[in-house]
Amino acid sequence: MPRSNISVEALRKRIVSTFADVPKPLDSDIAPHRCLECDELRVAFAPYESLEVPDTLIKEHFDALPLFSPRALRYLLPAYLQYAMRNSESDVFEFVLYQLSPNLDLLTQDHYRERLEIFSKPERSAICAFLEWAESADEEKRFSDEIARARQIWSHGA
Ligand SMILES: [Zn+2]
Repeated sequence: MPRSNISVEALRKRIVSTFADVPKPLDSDIAPHRCLECDELRVAFAPYESLEVPDTLIKEHFDALPLFSPRALRYLLPAYLQYAMRNSESDVFEFVLYQLSPNLDLLTQDHYRERLEIFSKPERSAICAFLEWAESADEEKRFSDEIARARQIWSHGA
């Protein structure tokens, strides 16, 4: 178990309560792009409430976060965060950190700006708490750069 001062259970509860009122996106808005991969993503995720998405589905779609619409990202990110918290050695942990840490010069582009601005201040703040936990869980410091950049991005206005 990673050493951490941050209670995983307290963080889990904070994420659940902070994102509790985020509306579920329309099926068509889960992954708005039309291609085989995005079509499959819509069909796969449409039946589930955010925190009821099965682990197998998150594991299978560990790299899907960039394909979700901003609304779907806001709705489904908590499920990915929770999976990452239970599995800090997983591809999901790694790709969540990539999603949260775009290069700063990309933030002026609509694709990245919309995926940041849709989150409320309390949600950004909960994401920062997740990043604080991730830093302690990343014992070998494999993702120090991503975590530092993500904390810079998500603490802005949080
Ligand atoms: Zn697509």
